[in-house]
Amino acid sequence: MKNIRRSFLKLLGFSYLSAILLPYNLAHSAAKKIINPNLTEEQKKIMLDQATEKPFSSPLNFEKRKGFFHCANCDAKLFSSDAKFDSGTGWPSFSESLPGAFKTTIDYSFGMKRIEYYCANCGVHHGHVFDDGPTSTQKKFCSNGLCLIFKPEI
Ligand SMILES: [Zn+2]
Repeated sequence: MKNIRRSFLKLLGFSYLSAILLPYNLAHSAAKKIINPNLTEEQKKIMLDQATEKPFSSPLNFEKRKGFFHCANCDAKLFSSDAKFDSGTGWPSFSESLPGAFKTTIDYSFGMKRIEYYCANCGVHHGHVFDDGPTSTQKKFCSNGLCLIFKPEI
């Protein structure tokens, strides 16, 4: 009996949260702006519908030069190469973003609670950030490489 009550309360808490978050999520998706007319269907799926690229598919996993990673949609500067590390997840990963580059929201999809981050300038989805990073920031930004453009320092 106790268990049933507990799962009921859990369910209640969950729907309560979704009720709060839903209008916010709707507002958030409306705020996404496509700026780059040359985005591919795959990029749009990730940026607008929070799809995830296949792990180990991005050439940016191997990018080791100095420079900056920009938003593939609006060109905003998002990460410095100094913050890049190999997380072993198969997605380009960073210990921190440039100040003000992203905004975050809680993502409850797939029965998980994750922190989604999206471009503060154009609103498109970029990835999820976790608290188990190996550096002093303890952050691990797992980025979809298709959302990023790397510009090496000249
Ligand atoms: Zn952007």
